[in-house]
Amino acid sequence: MKEKVQEAWSKKPLIIGGPCSAETEDQLVSTAQRLAATGKINMLRAGIWKPRTKPGMFEGIGAKGLPWLQKAKALTGLPTTVEVATGKQVEDALNFEVDVLWIGARTTVNPFSVQEVADALRGVDIPVLIKNPINPDLELWSGAVERVARAGIKQIGLIHRGFSSYGNTEYRNAPMWHLAIEMKRRNPDQIIINDPSHICGRRDILQETAQKAIDLDFDGLMIESHIDPDNAWSDAKQQVTPERLAEMLSSIIWRKEDV
Ligand code: PEP
Ligand code: MN
Repeated sequence: MKEKVQEAWSKKPLIIGGPCSAETEDQLVSTAQRLAATGKINMLRAGIWKPRTKPGMFEGIGAKGLPWLQKAKALTGLPTTVEVATGKQVEDALNFEVDVLWIGARTTVNPFSVQEVADALRGVDIPVLIKNPINPDLELWSGAVERVARAGIKQIGLIHRGFSSYGNTEYRNAPMWHLAIEMKRRNPDQIIINDPSHICGRRDILQETAQKAIDLDFDGLMIESHIDPDNAWSDAKQQVTPERLAEMLSSIIWRKEDV
């Protein structure tokens, strides 16, 4: 699996697909199988612990979803990635052989949390993706990268998921593309992928946003996909079926050198 992860990481574009949240074993495994059948993604994502803005919402299935992810990997051959926000979550994810970890936008804003995750990663050989913080602060984003790098993690990637602002806007999280471009300029050795799902917060502008990222030479995409998007337990408005995701990816005009 390590070789598969390396291949996915280094071969442009890196396409990560999967549900916002793991909900049930069947939902996760079916999503993974339908995504794998399209032949268009090279890594499976699923939220196991969900940092929700308000209490009382679905906060993730927790560690009991990790064996489901293992099963999805065994059946599809897709490497897996999950969000981790605490040392315990890192430990649990590693125990269940998650292949790549990612730090979410609500964690990147908090140096204490980032440091806790980084400390749990000391001596571990695993690639880590770091989302931008929810606020447009490149220093905070860079600080998180530095903390993880200082813990000895060699492969670090960046995920641009947009920045929150007050009130209703076209986007759920404003892309502020120039900030992602500047971060890429400052970190030429790291890959940067785009997460149009959390930028858009809706399905209808997902494709054009993904296209923009590819036009701007991002190294890949992370897009949420669910077998029954309207009934998803989190982020229902922005998820697409595996088949719709494949259609979208087929319609994107890729940079010649990427395909
Ligand atoms: C997610 O990827 O489901 C998520 C919670 O994203 P973000 O950290 O970008 O809000
Ligand atoms: Mn989500």
